[in-house]
This record gives sequence, structure tokens and C-alpha cells, in this order.
Amino acid sequence: MESQTETHRKQKKWLRLLLFPLPLQGHVSPMLQLANLLYSKGFSITIIHTCFISSPKYPSNNPHFTFHSIPNGLSKSECSDADNLVALVSILNANCADPFRDCLVKLLSEVSDEPVAGLISDSTWEFTDSIAKSLQLPRFVLRTNNISSFLALAALALLQEKGYLPIQESQEEKPVIELPPLKVKDIPVFKTQDQEGLHQTIAALVEQTKSYTGLIWNSFEELEHGSLTDFRHNFPVPIFPIGPLHKYFPVPSTSLLSQDQSAISWLNKQAPKSVIYVSFGSVANIEKSEFVEIAWGLANSEQPFLWVVRPGSVIGSEWLEPLPKGFMEEIKERGHIVKWAPQQEVLAHTAVGGFWTHSGWNSTLESICEGVPMICHPCFGDQRVNARYVSDVWRIGVHLENKVDRFEIAKVVRKLLVEAEGHEIRDRILQFKKMANQSTQQQGSSYRSLESLVSLILSSQSQRKL
Ligand code: UDP
Repeated sequence: MESQTETHRKQKKWLRLLLFPLPLQGHVSPMLQLANLLYSKGFSITIIHTCFISSPKYPSNNPHFTFHSIPNGLSKSECSDADNLVALVSILNANCADPFRDCLVKLLSEVSDEPVAGLISDSTWEFTDSIAKSLQLPRFVLRTNNISSFLALAALALLQEKGYLPIQESQEEKPVIELPPLKVKDIPVFKTQDQEGLHQTIAALVEQTKSYTGLIWNSFEELEHGSLTDFRHNFPVPIFPIGPLHKYFPVPSTSLLSQDQSAISWLNKQAPKSVIYVSFGSVANIEKSEFVEIAWGLANSEQPFLWVVRPGSVIGSEWLEPLPKGFMEEIKERGHIVKWAPQQEVLAHTAVGGFWTHSGWNSTLESICEGVPMICHPCFGDQRVNARYVSDVWRIGVHLENKVDRFEIAKVVRKLLVEAEGHEIRDRILQFKKMANQSTQQQGSSYRSLESLVSLILSSQSQRKL
């Protein structure tokens, strides 16, 4: 039977999709992976983008896409001011609505032999809902976190009503009865001066979910079956768990920062499964005191380590200044520190035996796909939920729950890399790796969901023409 792609390529009339990512690493990567996937299904792709933080390689990496840039009213340094993520997202939403509408109106009015089939926006762009409705444009949404953490976000109002919020230190270890297996300290809270405002925004975004034309998840059915069932029960919208998006085929690098390839040449010299890879993603920052404990913890573990220290990620420092005196001399060749690594390549390297992560969803999924067990060290928001699922539900990692100190770190690193418990965790995550990889193959659950998504886009487009 002829595939959908072949059919509409033969029609010689490509449909165009407009994709609008949030300009943060953890959001841009899955959106560009999705763009490549939909291109492979026969759609033309236009990316509407704002503030790609550092020099944009995307147009040259993706010559098969069209790019339209819109202003966001912020300087580059303001854009990368991750210290206050909530404020950044809120300013971006306030500043980008008008330029986005203008851009969309222009694109829709252009005479083209590639009619626009719909918009796919990041779920965090609040204003795209009303703009798409006013232009009668089908609006699909990509959620770059997972289903379990979304359900926790959606329950924030209820949790507040029940008295869980604001979180009291004395209550942190208590279970959240309404959201097993979460503990109070796993509730996805964000740092902001305006908690009330944030909760209202989240409630509005959750409400919007009910009117999406379709909702795309970078996750897969086998991993989140229970949460998907709950979601379907509460949100009757067409959903498409089509992840892991980076696993269908290799796509050009989606990294916003330049990746230091010395990470790979250093790994090439290490024994199989011996290295702990440490990275806290593109946004999370840590205190100097924590940084020093991490350094000594890694040293004391006596295992080789590859450590990503993003410039500016240690609060009050440019890069490695807070590193204890004599640290690198003591470590010698046993440790390697880079500013940014080719993470997917690192995780796929045979020398890597564990990943100490902040439990961002992309990092978690990438680790699962390579069968690398994790040490979870969540910082805020959905990372807390991801970490709990990794440690307690899927049991593919260890949760660094207590205060981060050098002795605890050394113990946990050794537990993961050399002790029997670590081997058991590795065996389990290898099963998940298999499921993840099968899901994107033909007849796999994600692949089938992708085919349904393509069908829905095509049928939404034909209704739009009527
Ligand atoms: N990443 C990378 N190099 C690094 C650290 C991270 O390329 O040194 C990538 C990683 O592969 C992942 C993304 O940055 O795709 C981080 O996304 P995640 O959702 O894990 O966390 P966030 O940065 O959004 O907190």
C-alpha cells in the first residue's frame, strides 16, 4: 500500500506546516527533531523563531526548511538569563504576541503552491491559542515534558486547595496522596516572586489543552501507559505520543551551544562502562558550595568522570573559579571538564556507565534510549517528577535525595557504577532502551501514532479549505 508521504508527494502539492519553538535548548531540540520527522512525511516546514540565544546554525544545518525570525524585544544576555526562567517565559509571551500574529498573517496571505496545513507551537506560547483560532488555523501543540509531569502541573490548583502549597520543609517527605508516587518535595514548583501569577498562567495553559487540534508528546506509550490513561480520561483531545523524537533517524545537531568534541576523544581512552557523565542541562544553576561538594564527591568516588560545567551555571562565577585549589592536579587524567558536550554521542559511548543528571526530560529520554542508568538530582519544575518516576516507578536510576555532600555523592556514584544494585538498574534500563527503540520502528506504538498525527493534519487541512 502506498504511504501517505508518497501520496501527497505525488500530488505535487506539498502542505506547509508552521512550527514555533520556545527559544530554550530543551524546547528547540524536540521541535527541530519533530520538524525533520514531519518533513520526512512529506510536509514543507517553516520555522518561526525568536532569539536563538547563540549564533543560529539552524538555517545552514536545515537548508530544507524555511526560517522566519520575529523580534522578542530582549537582548541576548536577557534571553539566556535562566536565573529567572518564569519571568523570561512571561516576558517572551508578552513581547512576541504581536510580531507572531503579524508574521502569521503575512505567511497566510502569501500566494503559495504550498497551502498552510496548520501551526505546531510549543505549549508554553500562551498567545498562539487565540491567534490560531482567530485565523481559523488548526493548532497542534508540542509538549516537551512528559505526561506524568504534566498531570502533576495540572493538579497544582488542587494541591494548593488541599494545603500542600506552599511547600513546608517539615512536610517534604510526606506522600502526595492525590498523585502517587510523588512526595511533597516532588511537586513541580518553580522559583518566582509571583507564585499566584504563575499558577494562573499554568491553569490557563492546562485549560487550553482541551481545545488543541492535537497534542504531540515526546514520550512513548509503553513508558507512560498509566499516565496516558489518566490523561485521556481527563483531557478528551487527540494525543500523539510519538517519542523519542531523536530516535527515528539522525538529524543535524540541534545544540544551541558549541559542543566540545574533546569529550569524545577523552572517553575513547576510558574503560567500558567506567565513566560517570555529569550534566545539569541548559538552564539549572547551582550554588558554589554545592559545586565544591560535587567536585570532591567525584574525586572521592575514584571513578573517571566527564563533567559539563556550563559557563555561568555556578552562581556568582564565570566558570571553574570555585574549583578547590589543587583539584585538577589531584584528578589528573581521571576527570575531564567541558563547557558543553555532544550529549547524545556521550551517552551512546561504550565508556559511559552512568549519567548524573538534573532530570530534564530530554536528558532522561536520551539516557533511556542509550540504556544508561541515572543519578537524579532535580532542581525545579518537572525535573522533580521525572526524578521520582526514574527512581521509584521505572527503577532505572538512583535519587540523590538528601543534601548534596561529598560522601553521599561518592557513595551513590560507586553504587551505580560498581555495585550489584547498579548492575540491576542497568539491566532494567536496557529493557526500556529496547522498548524505546522499538516504539519508533514501523508498527511500533510511536510510529503508529505518528501516522495518525499525519492523518489528522491532512484532514484538518481539508476542513480548513471548506
Ligand atoms: N545537552 C547537550 N550538551 C550538554 C548538556 C546538554 O547537548 O553538555 C542537551 C541534551 O542532549 C538535551 C538538552 O541539552 O537534549 C537539555 O534538555 P533537558 O530537557 O534535559 O534539560 P533543560 O536544559 O531543558 O533543563
